[in-house]
Amino acid sequence: MEVYPDWNFRENIAIHPCECNKKCGNYVLYVKACMAHVRNAPEQELIDIASWDQSDLYDLFANIDEVLSVEYKRDELEKSFNKKIKNPKKINKKKEEN
Ligand SMILES: [Zn+2]
Repeated sequence: MEVYPDWNFRENIAIHPCECNKKCGNYVLYVKACMAHVRNAPEQELIDIASWDQSDLYDLFANIDEVLSVEYKRDELEKSFNKKIKNPKKINKKKEEN
């Protein structure tokens, strides 16, 4: 993905190189504490959740792509279903044609 959203997509979730990235090659996932399953974490701060190497990042990307593809298809299905419901005349017209 080379086109990034115009909102602050690092506000709640961020991935940054590890402090010793040159040595370990890892990246660190940060999420806002209120999104993490961590007790007593400061609500509005990004907290360090996981370290990943490059192959883990590809796995993450594939996982997210799969989930978003399903969500996208569901949205499209719901939109087309709702269009049919909102336009009963069209549906009735089709019934009359048959
Ligand atoms: Zn490191």
